[in-house]
Amino acid sequence: MVNQRLRELKPAVREQIKIVLIPTSRQYMDHLNKNIKNYNLNIEIAQEKPFLDLLHEIKPVLYLSTNSHNVKEAIGAGFGAATMFLGDYDNHSAEVLRVAFDGDGVLFSDESERVYKEKGLQAFFQNERDQEGTSLALPKPSNAVTIAVSSRTLFNMVKERKVFEEEGLERYVAHQLELEDQPFTPGVSFPFVKALMNVNARLRELYPDSEELFDIVLMTNNHAQVGVRLINSINYYDLTIERFCMTGGESPIGYLKAYMTNLYLSKDSVKVQEAIGEGIAAATMFPSDSENELSDTQLRVAFDGDAVLFSDESEIIVKEHGLDTFFRHEKEFENKPLAQGPLKCFLEALGKLQRKFYAKDQRISCPIRTYLVTARSAASAGARVLKTLRSWGLEVDEALFLAGAPKGPLLQKIRPHIFFDDQMFHIEGAQELGTIAAHVPYGIGQKYHKGKRMETSDAEKK
Ligand SMILES: [Mg+2]
Repeated sequence: MVNQRLRELKPAVREQIKIVLIPTSRQYMDHLNKNIKNYNLNIEIAQEKPFLDLLHEIKPVLYLSTNSHNVKEAIGAGFGAATMFLGDYDNHSAEVLRVAFDGDGVLFSDESERVYKEKGLQAFFQNERDQEGTSLALPKPSNAVTIAVSSRTLFNMVKERKVFEEEGLERYVAHQLELEDQPFTPGVSFPFVKALMNVNARLRELYPDSEELFDIVLMTNNHAQVGVRLINSINYYDLTIERFCMTGGESPIGYLKAYMTNLYLSKDSVKVQEAIGEGIAAATMFPSDSENELSDTQLRVAFDGDAVLFSDESEIIVKEHGLDTFFRHEKEFENKPLAQGPLKCFLEALGKLQRKFYAKDQRISCPIRTYLVTARSAASAGARVLKTLRSWGLEVDEALFLAGAPKGPLLQKIRPHIFFDDQMFHIEGAQELGTIAAHVPYGIGQKYHKGKRMETSDAEKK
């Protein structure tokens, strides 16, 4: 398939992938030839010669066999070789050849692997407790609270993006290589990530062996060459980000699921919508106009209620039947919990970590604080949301009912590291006053702008 594409680009191309078959026995040559013809494979059959002589003659970049003895011999002679195992293999791309490599012992020598293994073993004999791994070992995704951030939210890559859009991929990669030693400046999710690190440091002090920590995964569809600059930047700012996910332009959803992601932050609203559609808490981030100074000892997270922590069921009533019906409805169903919204599980994960501080008598100095910032009014529509949270066994540290007043000024006082809302005008209002805001593209609010249904307002213009 790759060869075919190469020939399409340049019919007389000489650089092609050449496949040579080394038969294990000459007995079945007819059978082999028949199969090669049946499958329409463009394969040469090697001459009969001793195995190693043959390899030296063919000089393959890769030798594959089910015979591990031959494979070992090939590796010993300096060839790239691997033993293949039989299995059921389906669902492969017919358009892209995909090759995945392990690092240590495969692309690289085993020097690091050996140090690790030998030191581990010695430590085992000397002191079993030492060997149990350091507190900096990566937590398992099932224990950790996994936050996936895109490289464009963690770092400011606006200039680089421009190079990419205006001058193309090759020039972009070259530009990144030239500036490899120059760290990126912080991006919009950077203060949030930094605050997560601070919570982790506090958790490690209290629970040195626990894996219940934030684990940050960097999601990037950047070229692998740009990875070095990303790693340099991460080290420069002393961030503990060990998991990288280079998606190479593909949808990150599969990876988000595999990493059991609790929250995904990106600048790409299409990917964010896709994640929410798959039940993953996600939000789109925008640069803020000015910057408020944020707490460096406490992570502060502010949530809108309807269509963020809760479903949009009540929002639909506001939009379609107006506020009066909404108030009556919320009073009537005060004791019926609202269904959960896309960010509920993230609040739950924060609550799980908060309780670890409470258990050590650190409620007052807890480095995580959560806020509900809703446009609902307390008296007429507040009880239902508070009772819903209670029914989930969740709490927020502060519940602020604005009764329709703008959210921006209040958020400016709270100074959250991140504020989630489903309505763009709340996001814009927050940003104008320097709050880092993240848009949750979910629910009926997406069809409205400033209280007007967008399709109708377009029609009215005509
Ligand atoms: Mg809302």
